[in-house]
Amino acid sequence: MTGFRERYLKTVHHTIERYRLVEPGDCIFVALSGGKDSGSALYTLTRYVEERGVECRLQPFHINLGFPFSQRVEEVVEEQAEFLGLSLKVFHASDYGVDMERIAKLPRPICSSCGLVKRYLMNRLPRELGATKLATGHHADDFIVFFFKNLLGGNLEWSSKFVPKLPTRGKQLGRIRPLFFVGGEENRRFAEEVGLPHLKEDLCPYSTYGCGVDRSKRMWLEVIDYISRRQRGFRRRMMTSIMRLAETLSTQRPETQPLRECRICGEPTSGEICAFCRLLEAQRRVD
Ligand code: AMP
Ligand code: ZN
Repeated sequence: MTGFRERYLKTVHHTIERYRLVEPGDCIFVALSGGKDSGSALYTLTRYVEERGVECRLQPFHINLGFPFSQRVEEVVEEQAEFLGLSLKVFHASDYGVDMERIAKLPRPICSSCGLVKRYLMNRLPRELGATKLATGHHADDFIVFFFKNLLGGNLEWSSKFVPKLPTRGKQLGRIRPLFFVGGEENRRFAEEVGLPHLKEDLCPYSTYGCGVDRSKRMWLEVIDYISRRQRGFRRRMMTSIMRLAETLSTQRPETQPLRECRICGEPTSGEICAFCRLLEAQRRVD
């Protein structure tokens, strides 16, 4: 094994162990998007469970959003699961009333609607199937970008959930982020080196140039890259500080408000009707 691969696995496995991301008896649903990040999360989790002999179940799954390119994405995700000898579960957003063609016509950014649909289904479906935790491919660069955006926007408290593990809270399924201390480029290199199938480019036509969210993210990624090439251990040190800040924020402002249940679907929400049900309602009004 190359030095890089060993170092990468050591970092991720250390994160899994130190923050108890995997525990005996767990049923962890691993959310796959077809990309290098979530693919690497599944790979490292699988290796960890095998090497340590932890008695738990890893269940990869994918949400097919029903875009024209979604079939191709699903094929790649299928290859990833097969590569690791696991069977994949695929859910179709359309089975839950989502019509992306209609949603694209709404006067709100499609990326944010798509994110909302994914977050909702990623919480609800695994939980309904007995999951104890949800694993995603979110990595250090994602959190550093969000952290800067929140800081500049004066919303520091929005970073309070930037930790490797969030416990289950009522119907809100606990989340784990094994890639918390590694960056996007490291995931790419790891996926390439181990031969893990993954989408090399983003197939989503909305995210390429059309979306402001994406342009701003790219700018921040360049900044992170610039600094990390000049400052050794930048990502790791940033993540340690962000995690400490998140812990401080959540102890200072514990979530005292109990989560409510959506009047329509029963899923967790802070209001009366959840954002997903409101989106479906808006979609119905599109002609
Ligand atoms: P994103 O918000 O697209 O950066 O995705 C963040 C994480 O959500 C990924 O690392 C995956 O773990 C998960 N994810 C994204 N898209 C999907 C999808 N269509 N189906 C299942 N999981 C997904
Ligand atoms: Zn609802």
